[in-house]
Amino acid sequence: VRCDAVWTNARLMTMREGLGVVEDGMVAARDGYIVHAGPRIDVDGAEIHDCQRRWITPGLIDPHTHLVFAGNRAHEFQMRLDGASYADIGRAGGGILSTVRLTRAASEDELIAQALPRLDALLRDGVTTVEIKSGYGLTLDDELKMLRAAKALEHHRLVRVVTTLLAAHAVPPEHDADSYIDEVCDRIIPAAVGLADAVDAFCEGIGFTPAQAERVFQAAQAHGLPVKLHAEQLSNRNGAALAARYNALSADHLEYLDNAGIHEMARSGTVATLLPGAFYVMRETRLPPIAALRAAGVSMALATDCNPGTAPITSLLAILNMAATLFRMTVEECLLGVTAHAARALGRSGIGVLEAGRRCDLAVWDIGEPAELVYWLGNSPLHARVVNGKAV
Ligand SMILES: [Zn+2]
Repeated sequence: VRCDAVWTNARLMTMREGLGVVEDGMVAARDGYIVHAGPRIDVDGAEIHDCQRRWITPGLIDPHTHLVFAGNRAHEFQMRLDGASYADIGRAGGGILSTVRLTRAASEDELIAQALPRLDALLRDGVTTVEIKSGYGLTLDDELKMLRAAKALEHHRLVRVVTTLLAAHAVPPEHDADSYIDEVCDRIIPAAVGLADAVDAFCEGIGFTPAQAERVFQAAQAHGLPVKLHAEQLSNRNGAALAARYNALSADHLEYLDNAGIHEMARSGTVATLLPGAFYVMRETRLPPIAALRAAGVSMALATDCNPGTAPITSLLAILNMAATLFRMTVEECLLGVTAHAARALGRSGIGVLEAGRRCDLAVWDIGEPAELVYWLGNSPLHARVVNGKAV
């Protein structure tokens, strides 16, 4: 096989059919693509990386974040610890609209500068692809500014960014919900074509109704954009079933998902993106229906949900530990959740698995066995990151 770089003397988790372990393995790349991932073979003309028995996984994928925002909400966190209610915080000008105010006031460059330290933390955990949503602008110009800032992160770091328009995140103060959905469908979605890879909405009692989410889906599909949904986080609104009927890439959160929703998701192949970090921060007690999702064959992905309100979390490996500890997911499920299944949640068939034809995005780990990636909390055993065949 002719190639330009190889990683050899490695143990592989290919993530084909489970972990897909190869004990004496090699990954060979040409022009940024994997040309071989499996047992050692003879290769020509390559730059050789001796991995000294380290493990290689596909570069990790964080498929649900709100990484771009201005300011933070540490002050509100402290107010809640001191006994303030959400209503108190709202009266003090807090909550999501405080992030909206700061994000509107920030320039695109300021948003990039504030997002970079959070991105760097994710990269130290072996992340090579990150999904980033808009949703703190809530005007045409500010939503597009957020999407441009998210995309621009690719020029600052070696990483893939997948963007999602989440204009239907909250009702901005200058609109009522229905007039804002008109704005989202008639102006913001058409303007986001080419900048957003997908369209999302927040379907919840404190967000938008299923009927409003459906209008967003119809507008997105009319513009050729795939959809996804924040669904069933705090109550069951049958949002996941609605999303599945629109062939959503993923439905996300899902603590209150019921059997009818699971059935629709299985039928459409919609991925369940689970967010144990928000569950932890919000001290939720209602678990997503993991066993029923598993039994129905719904693919489960895992993400940080990094956001200033409910998940100020910048470690994807910490999320793996939370998924295992809080949600009782297996090591294999956790690792599939940030590789092969996360790729499906983003509609990206070119990443997430080590096999010929996919992008050569790798994470090389100083670990003795796969479970260590789920076991450690607050310690990244990352040795090297590779994006498009280029070692960082
Ligand atoms: Zn979210």
